[in-house]
Amino acid sequence: MLYKDNKRAEQENQEDQSCNWNGKNILLVEDDPVSMEYFKEVLAPTRVGILVAENGEQALKQFGGDVSPDLVLMDIQLPDISGLEVTREMKRVKPQIPIIAQTAHAMTEDREKCIRAGADEYISKPIAIDDLLVIINRFI
Ligand code: MN
Repeated sequence: MLYKDNKRAEQENQEDQSCNWNGKNILLVEDDPVSMEYFKEVLAPTRVGILVAENGEQALKQFGGDVSPDLVLMDIQLPDISGLEVTREMKRVKPQIPIIAQTAHAMTEDREKCIRAGADEYISKPIAIDDLLVIINRFI
């Protein structure tokens, strides 16, 4: 019984160590409510703090607000300002904050555009949970 409990505690520890972002904050920039819910669900077990923005204007407001994010997950297709433009502006203000761009299209030129705009990494939708966590873990 005790052995089992230890074993379980050990496993939980290992999971925590890989993706425990307690005390950190991620800014989710996403206008699609379904995708937003998906990201929130995937990130919930990591205990990361979540800031949300549904458009470019909100994203820049959150970015410059009291709680500075440790990482930004940036949808490139936004209703108001292009995510590329928002990325450029964020990198101009605080270049040290990592930005992971994400788009629904997996065109090779998308990746180039995002990287040129200043994004640190690029992922295309649909995004597998493991891939997302591994990529965020590299930058957060
Ligand atoms: Mn979008």
